[in-house]
Amino acid sequence: MTKTALTSLSADQLAERLTDLRADYTWLKEQELKLDLTRGKPGADQLDLSEALLRLPTGHSNRTGTDVRNYGGLEGLPEMREIFADLLGIDPGQVVAGGNSSLSMMYQVVTWMLLKGGPDSPRPWSQEETVKFVCPVPGYDRHFTMLAELGIEMVTVDMHADGPDVAQVKALVADDPSVKGMWIVPTYANPTGAVCSTEVAAELMAMPTAAPDFRILWDNAYAVHHLTDQETKSADALGLAAVSGNPNRPIMFASTSKITFAGAGVAALAASAENKAWYLQRLNFAAIGPDKVNQLRHVEFFGDADGVRAHMQKHRALIAPKFAAVDQALSSRLTGLDIATWSKPTGGYFVDLDVLDGTASRVVELAKEAGIALTPAGSAFPHGNDPRDRNIRLAPTFPTLAEVETAMAGVAVCVELAAVEKLASS
Ligand code: PMP
Repeated sequence: MTKTALTSLSADQLAERLTDLRADYTWLKEQELKLDLTRGKPGADQLDLSEALLRLPTGHSNRTGTDVRNYGGLEGLPEMREIFADLLGIDPGQVVAGGNSSLSMMYQVVTWMLLKGGPDSPRPWSQEETVKFVCPVPGYDRHFTMLAELGIEMVTVDMHADGPDVAQVKALVADDPSVKGMWIVPTYANPTGAVCSTEVAAELMAMPTAAPDFRILWDNAYAVHHLTDQETKSADALGLAAVSGNPNRPIMFASTSKITFAGAGVAALAASAENKAWYLQRLNFAAIGPDKVNQLRHVEFFGDADGVRAHMQKHRALIAPKFAAVDQALSSRLTGLDIATWSKPTGGYFVDLDVLDGTASRVVELAKEAGIALTPAGSAFPHGNDPRDRNIRLAPTFPTLAEVETAMAGVAVCVELAAVEKLASS
């Protein structure tokens, strides 16, 4: 049965609908749920896929005979770097394999650009009056909180299905030398699921920038996290930048956080020869070497990049049904009401839900009162400020499938109730 758009209901019809929805909501609260869709964490069943890591490595030297238990090897084990290079479609020589967190590597890069400047910086960023970053929205909250913490201003651009709005980005970077950088999650973006096309990537790498040391932090956290058979390949950021004459523009990041153990994986940074040397030079003052035991454990566990790809199929089998359950719950209650749209991601960890303008905070509040924790409204925007108060990030991987079904049926009630409350009062 086709539903009627809520916006076309009369005042009386809205009042009647509100009464029904309040009854549904009262019932929902009586269920005394305690469910959490807040963070994109792997479920325990996903972590179990890598349980064998706890019994590895079997040896203590790698193929070149390095004793991994000892200090040294700042750029990481060659085998680990080869696996990342294959997965990211780049040259192993461009890769540094590090500790357990790519976010920490991003933090190092931004901090060192502030303190020291990069190979092509006229001076350290901290000596500029203002430093600004272009932030595609909605985006990853920790990217934005990192910049806020470091005193970097954020200017937003729209995120489309094929990546950031290039015209908006170009207009921001062309004449303003204080715009020093930009975030992008190129594949299965957090939270929209967008995949940056080669055309968009090529324009971003080639566009003129007023800042000679403009950096694109290319956070490819979900490069191999496919949810369908269509295993989308990431655009070749480093190659495109090199042919455009801007080899130092992109710095790429990835990790096995959502491949093996979220708290004990291996992270990687990849960049031009000059950027890589710059990074290692700074790192040399901060560390004697990464956790090579963990790297060898990962190398033994996977064998090679195909081993990672096969492992990701097992993740997909566990989490794709959860994404389908989100879509099913939202569709069955909200399709046709004209109050919400949501992403149908083909990879990554999130579903991006846009509700009726001005109601996202209310939806999150209603859900909380019914025992369903959602990421705070606005968290996908710098300073938590969603100007339309409409965006909610859903993270369905951590709860069980049954919990996702229950929670999302509840969220759908909250979305409709918040919309009807607003329409009935206006
Ligand atoms: N980047 C993005 C886009 C993410 O979504 C996440 C995890 N939520 C991270 C980075 C964190 O990566 P890591 O565990 O390697 O620090």
